[in-house]
Amino acid sequence: MVENQYVQERDRLLAEIDEEAAQTQAYTGRKQFSARVMNALQKVPRHQFVGADQHDMAYLNRPLSIGQGQTISQPYIVAVMTDLLDITPEDTVLEIGTGCGYQAAVLAEIAKTVYSVETIEVLATAARERLEGLGCKNIHIRTGDGFLGWPEYAPYDAIIVTAAPRTVPPALIEQLKPGGRLVIPIGEAFETQTLYRCVKESDGTLTQKRMLPVAFVPMVKN
Ligand code: SAH
Repeated sequence: MVENQYVQERDRLLAEIDEEAAQTQAYTGRKQFSARVMNALQKVPRHQFVGADQHDMAYLNRPLSIGQGQTISQPYIVAVMTDLLDITPEDTVLEIGTGCGYQAAVLAEIAKTVYSVETIEVLATAARERLEGLGCKNIHIRTGDGFLGWPEYAPYDAIIVTAAPRTVPPALIEQLKPGGRLVIPIGEAFETQTLYRCVKESDGTLTQKRMLPVAFVPMVKN
């Protein structure tokens, strides 16, 4: 639950996201994000996912540092990516790049189960403890290489990638159900990347649609 002191700031943030959704409609095809996505953003206490020194900034529409040179995405980006996944309450979702676990917590509000893979072990451990502390029971995190996905629980109804590879990792296409959605930033490290919404067709091919210019940390190979 979002504590009282943040309620006003959070409501202002939701209004900003709503406005930005309308402004970016020409790119995303969506004038408004679904009520389920907006409710999830309202519920998840973003300040609990960043250090105490950043609590005051947690409800600004800005990316924030989460340590280890990594960032938690801007709330509008979390909103648009979540919306583009078209998740139903029965869906199993895979996330690549757990980071602090905020995006996973938002997904867990609207999906049945979330699996999330993080390459930096200390981030994975901290996210797992934080989410347990917040009572999120339907999120499973493991340390590993996101280029390989998480084959044990595949196929997934939706996959979200929150670090940018240069091309779509083939394992992620394999682990997506036919009809499944993949939302992923693609591009070179430290340049502007492009956010794509992809759908796996019944013949196994992937159709890709360009959405927005975005800036993500690179997806790294270890
Ligand atoms: N979704 C996160 C933000 C992610 S920042 C949140 O809500 O906080 C991107 C994350 O991707 C970083 O934590 C980074 O360590 C991770 N990452 C980068 N390359 C990866 C890879 N190959 N596999 C898994 N995670 C990776």
